[in-house]
Amino acid sequence: MNATENYSIRVEPTQNSRLSQVDFDNLKFGKILSDHMLVADYDDGEWKDVSIVPYGDISFSPSMSALHYGQAIFEGIKAYKFADGTVSIFRPDRNWERFNKSAARLQMPEVPEEIFMDGLNKLLDIDRNWVPAKEGSSLYIRPFMFGTEAALGVHPSKSYKFIIITGPVGAYYSKPISLKVETYYTRAAEGGVGFSKNAGNYALSLYPTQLANDEGYDQIMWTDASEHKYIEEAGTANLIFRIGDTIITPHGDTILHGVTRRTIMELAEKWGYKTEQRKVSVQELIDGIKAGTVTEAFAAGTAATITDISRIGFEGQDYNLPPVEGREFSNKVLHYLNELRYGKVADPFGWNYLVK
Ligand SMILES: *Cc1c(COP(=O)(O)O)cnc(C)c1O
Repeated sequence: MNATENYSIRVEPTQNSRLSQVDFDNLKFGKILSDHMLVADYDDGEWKDVSIVPYGDISFSPSMSALHYGQAIFEGIKAYKFADGTVSIFRPDRNWERFNKSAARLQMPEVPEEIFMDGLNKLLDIDRNWVPAKEGSSLYIRPFMFGTEAALGVHPSKSYKFIIITGPVGAYYSKPISLKVETYYTRAAEGGVGFSKNAGNYALSLYPTQLANDEGYDQIMWTDASEHKYIEEAGTANLIFRIGDTIITPHGDTILHGVTRRTIMELAEKWGYKTEQRKVSVQELIDGIKAGTVTEAFAAGTAATITDISRIGFEGQDYNLPPVEGREFSNKVLHYLNELRYGKVADPFGWNYLVK
């Protein structure tokens, strides 16, 4: 890939915007998609035909490789509107970086900055009226890439499509959730693909999650593949605990390195908390809950930012966490991030990427 290469982005504006039909007071996640999408094709070793076109169906061959062998990765990002109309994307450079790590692990081409970042900027400029102005609402951004070669032989696809679609989403007031510690099924193993945001990681979680739901839990607390002793993630979000006065998050290649998790750990450090990224055993957590030293536990991800955990089930026994109202750290983080992302306070970290 020639880094100095210039990708001109062709723009084909829609002739019939759907914006006026959108009820911004009743937004269901992922149901409403904005007028435009960015599409780029990779073929013969290079990216070409980068364009912003009206959102719509695409056609493909039934032998398209992604459908059979799973070369499919994605990202999730949010954009917010300030009171003065400025559109700001939260830390998209981190998602671009992670996207290319996912791509490398699945033997897919990297997407250059001029297509991912500049394309994102241009797409949001064109669809800036789709970014909800209401506090709590945001524009969800979904970049994704998949192998498009029509061939049933098992090999890395020779061609790929990179697409960015977006859609407005409403305020996400997440109720505290219950988690079942999973001691049989596995999300990711050492040397596997747990750190990459690929479609297969979601497919494999659906069945065990249904079993947990049937037992009355909202989500799974995944544990390590070899011993099921160490905590990894909650469903499709990262886990953060407050044990004593330390903010702790599990670490390693089997977990997805979330931008929200990273953001929260950086804030904790900046605010003077002791922080640790290390292995946390289920036993340490259960003992801490019993002893009263585990005062906070929450899941962190782009969709809800923070989802507090109220109850944890392990080997048929339930353990309850302290009431959410008293959780100083998670409440403080959520409040601060809301102020920051809507431009109500200064951005000393440079986390807000303003659309030009
Ligand atoms: C996307 C994702 C997360 C959260 O990452 P963010 O960048 O904070 O949105 C955590 N775990 C898994 C498995 C994920 O796919």
